[in-house]
Amino acid sequence: MKRTLYLKFLLGYVLFGILGFITVSTLTSHLTLNYLKKQTISSLYRETNLLAGNYASNYYRGTMTLNDVESHFKAVATYFDTDIWVVDRNGHILINSRPDSANDETIQNFDISSFGTKYYQEGTFFDMFSENTLSVFSPITIGYKVRGYVLIHKPLSELTAYKDGLLNISYITLALIFLCAFIVLILFTFIIYIPIRKMTRAAKDYSSGNFDTKIDIHTNDEMGYLANSINYMATELSTLEEDQRKFIANVSHDFRSPLTSIKGYIEAIMDGTIPHEGQDKYLNIILFETERLNKLTHSMLELNKYGVKGSMMDIGDFDINHTIKMVVQSFEGTCKEKKISFELILTGQTCIVSADMSKIQQVLYNLIDNAIKFSHPESSITIETTEKNEKVFISVKDTGIGIPKDSIKKIWERFYKTDLSRGKDKRGTGLGLAIVKEIISSHNENINVISTEGVGTEFIFTLPMAQKETEL
Ligand code: ATP
Ligand code: MG
Repeated sequence: MKRTLYLKFLLGYVLFGILGFITVSTLTSHLTLNYLKKQTISSLYRETNLLAGNYASNYYRGTMTLNDVESHFKAVATYFDTDIWVVDRNGHILINSRPDSANDETIQNFDISSFGTKYYQEGTFFDMFSENTLSVFSPITIGYKVRGYVLIHKPLSELTAYKDGLLNISYITLALIFLCAFIVLILFTFIIYIPIRKMTRAAKDYSSGNFDTKIDIHTNDEMGYLANSINYMATELSTLEEDQRKFIANVSHDFRSPLTSIKGYIEAIMDGTIPHEGQDKYLNIILFETERLNKLTHSMLELNKYGVKGSMMDIGDFDINHTIKMVVQSFEGTCKEKKISFELILTGQTCIVSADMSKIQQVLYNLIDNAIKFSHPESSITIETTEKNEKVFISVKDTGIGIPKDSIKKIWERFYKTDLSRGKDKRGTGLGLAIVKEIISSHNENINVISTEGVGTEFIFTLPMAQKETEL
C-alpha cells in the first residue's frame, strides 16, 4: 500500500522546519538588526543632544575646563559603552573618550554636510574606524552659531552580536515549536493515520469479497465510531451475501421439487409405467403439486405488490372477533386430522377495528396455518384479543416445536424456514410470515414473536380500534 498520506504529512513537517529556519535566519535577523539600529540611533541622539547642550557648550562658554568636560564624557562613554568625541568645525578632535587616544588628531576631509539631512551615519566615519560604525552627531551652538559637534560612535559589530544573541533565543523557540509539532505528528500517527490504514486495509479485503477482516479500533471518538460502523456494515454485507445464496437455494428448491415430481409422474404415465387404472391417484398428486406451484407464484407476486409503497388498502371497520372465528372455522378439517383444538379468549362480544379486512384475514390465516403446522398432535392453540390504549392486541399462541433463538430475526425474511421445520414440513414456502409482516407494516402497526424452542410460539400484532362515533 502506498503511504502517500503519511509521506505528505512528513514532507509538510520537514518543510515547516526548513521554512521556519530560513525565516528566522533571514527575515527575523534583518528585522531585529533594523530595530536595534533604530533604537540605538535614537537613544544615542538623545545622548549627544544632552552632552552638546549641557556640557560641551559650558566649555565654549568657559564655565568648564576641557579636562572637566573630558572626564565627564569618559564616564558617560564607559557607561554606554561608546566612543564620545567633541570635534570643532574643522574636524579637530578636542575630546576623545577612548582612554588610549591622542586628542590632537584632525579628521581628514571632515565635512558635516556629508551626513545630509540625517543626524547619523553608518560607515567608517571618514576612515577613522576600521569597521562599520554608527555615528550620531549633535551640534554645539552658542548664540546661534555652531562651534563644534558632539559625536557618539558605536561599532555595528556590537549591535550584530546583540542581534545574534536575540536570534539564538528565536532558534531555541523554533526548535521547541518543531519539537511540539513532532509530538503532534506522533499523535496524528496514532490517532488518525494508523486507524485510517487499518480501515483502508479492511476496505480492500471487503472489496475482494473477504468480510472476515475486523477493524481493531476501540476508541471512544469519531474513528472508533467509524470503525464500528464499517465492522457492522461488513457483517451485514456478509450476511446479506449469505442470505442471498440461501434465498436462491430455497427458491430453486421450492420450484424444483414439485416440478421434478410432476415430470416423473407424467413420464411414468406416458411410457405406461403407471397403468391406466392407477393414473387418477398420480394425476391428483400432479394437481396438488401444481397448486403448490401456483400458491408459491401467487405468494411471490403478493409480496412484490407489498414491496411497492402505498399498495392499495381498503381500510374499513369490522369485528375482529368475528373474523377470527371465521378463519378458525376454515381450519376445522386440518385440525380434526391432527386432533388440535382452539381456545379463543376474545374481548367482549364484538371488537371493532379499523383495517383492511381481507388482508387481516390473510394474516390470521398465515399465523394459524403456522401454529397448526408446527404444533404437536393433540395440542391446543390459543387466540386472544385484548384492548389497550386504543389498540387491539391479537395473539396466536401454540405449544409446538418453537423457533431456535438465532432464527427468530430471520423468520420474517422471504423463503426463510428454520432447520426444524425444513425437514418436517416440506410444503411451506417460507413466504407466509414475510407477507404477514408486509401487511402489518402497511397498516403502520407492529408484530412481535415470543418463542422458546421445544416449548411454543406466540405471535402478537396490533390493530387500531375503530373511532367510536360521537353521539350528537
Ligand atoms: P408458507 O407459510 O409460505 O407456507 P412457512 O410456513 O414455512 O411457509 P412462514 O410462514 O414464513 O413460512 O414461516 C417461516 C418459518 O418460521 C417457518 O418455516 C418455521 O420454521 C418458522 N415458524 C413460523 N411460525 C412458527 C410457529 N408457530 N412455530 C414454529 N416455527 C414457526
Ligand atoms: Mg406459514
